[in-house]
Amino acid sequence: MSVPLLIIGSGLSGLAAAIRYARFSPDVLLLEKHARIGGLNSFFHRNGALIETGLHAITNYAEPKDKKAPLNQLFRQLKLNRKDLPLQEQIQSEICFPNRESLLFSNDFNLFYSQVVSKFPRLTAAFDQVLAAIKAYDPFRARPFISTRSFLSDSIRDPLLIDMILCPLMYYGSCSENDMDLGQFVIMFRAIFLEGMFRPRGTIKDLLDFLLNHYTAFGGKIRLNSPVVKICHKDKKVSAVELASGEVIECDHLLSTIGYRETLRLLGQDTSHESLTRLGFIESIFRLPVSCRQELPLDRTIIFYNQADRFRYERPHRHVDFNSGVICFPSNFHGIRPEGYFEIRSTHLADYHSWKSLQSSPLLYGEKKRESSRRSVETIEKITGNFRNNIVYEDTFTPLTVERFTAKLEGAIYGHPRKFKDGLIGYGNLFLAGTDQGYLGIVGSMLSGISMVNRHILSAL
Ligand SMILES: Cc1cc2nc3c(=O)[nH]c(=O)nc-3n(C[C@H](O)[C@H](O)[C@H](O)COP(=O)(O)OP(=O)(O)OC[C@H]3O[C@@H](n4cnc5c(N)ncnc54)[C@H](O)[C@@H]3O)c2cc1C
Repeated sequence: MSVPLLIIGSGLSGLAAAIRYARFSPDVLLLEKHARIGGLNSFFHRNGALIETGLHAITNYAEPKDKKAPLNQLFRQLKLNRKDLPLQEQIQSEICFPNRESLLFSNDFNLFYSQVVSKFPRLTAAFDQVLAAIKAYDPFRARPFISTRSFLSDSIRDPLLIDMILCPLMYYGSCSENDMDLGQFVIMFRAIFLEGMFRPRGTIKDLLDFLLNHYTAFGGKIRLNSPVVKICHKDKKVSAVELASGEVIECDHLLSTIGYRETLRLLGQDTSHESLTRLGFIESIFRLPVSCRQELPLDRTIIFYNQADRFRYERPHRHVDFNSGVICFPSNFHGIRPEGYFEIRSTHLADYHSWKSLQSSPLLYGEKKRESSRRSVETIEKITGNFRNNIVYEDTFTPLTVERFTAKLEGAIYGHPRKFKDGLIGYGNLFLAGTDQGYLGIVGSMLSGISMVNRHILSAL
């Protein structure tokens, strides 16, 4: 079998890339290792309930009239109609630091601006200066790493405000420890503070079904349960992929969305010498009856918290670092009225290697997961109020869970610390899209798939 374009991975970057190409030609095949699409953002069923694996909120909210906004570009490029996908905006979110320091923000940037100005009045001019620089900066121009902390501290001379600004941006889109590349910071600042957050109506399953139907309606094809085990190549040109079944599929172009090192492994390259730190996370889900929702904050969509003197976004030296994290209420969006049950989700930094050392002992691993979930509840109850006695179902994903279900090495959601903005990794017709190309999150990964297809594949048609 031979196809012009093969795409490895049906996460959101692979799906978006496939739809983009299928708009022009149906000769594209999406290969997915698992029985289900969605990658990091998927779902499973437990006791008859659908549980989402990833989705807190989607960044980059934009009104339909804002034609240049990344979200509307995404809709246009994929020929999606916003009327078919109603979007529900966040209520408001909070950055919560010690001594009741707090900054609220919503999809109206004026809220965040007025919070900064009223709580850090001496820094108004400095914040204005930073905003002007963010608006003028071109984050897509190739440049070497520029430290965001240095950039911010040139104008904002208060580490507390710098940490408070960085906390949500790092949790939702930084693959590097304690600092961010300035380009990535600008992308995330615009995506979260200037644009805002939303959820599409329904569950992640509805969104994935919608995208898959759209793709197949253009004639695109997909094969589930089809792990690629080898990329065949000669003289730096890919000729085919081999599936676990032994089947070989030839292709003109190959787009890999599974990660840089993960792709090198399929090419047969040794990647063992690499020592860059990868960030891992632990995510817990707590399901509660809707009757106790009133006792919890109804007007907060997401709370990004830090309880330590300084915000440290780094790999912990123990299983989990509870000093900081994200608390998400997926039903606290405008227009959502949960029936029966609702959920609270928590995210904290976790160390892959500590979890890996428990892998050979399912008993110890299970016990550590339960202990982590307990500690997460104890920690976040200090912010949200008590809910532990009402939990009817809970589950916890460690970096090992992420690695197992997505093949992301070390379960690193944000991938390799080095990004490949042009998608090129040294092979003429092989391109990288998704997490390791450099755009993170759902909108980011979809735009990554689209832009790599536009730049490298459609331009060659
Ligand atoms: C717990 C959690 C919460 C998150 N919350 C949010 C959020 O609220 N908002 C947001 O915007 N983002 C969120 N994200 C991040 C977001 O999910 C990702 O940035 C995005 O989905 C990445 O998409 P991707 O296509 O690049 O990669 P992936 O989703 O990792 O997709 C890669 C796909 O490739 C497949 N694959 C791997 N190896 C092979 C192989 N050898 N052969 C065939 N297929 C293979 C995998 O099974 C997978 O389906 C969250 C992630 C997690 C884990």
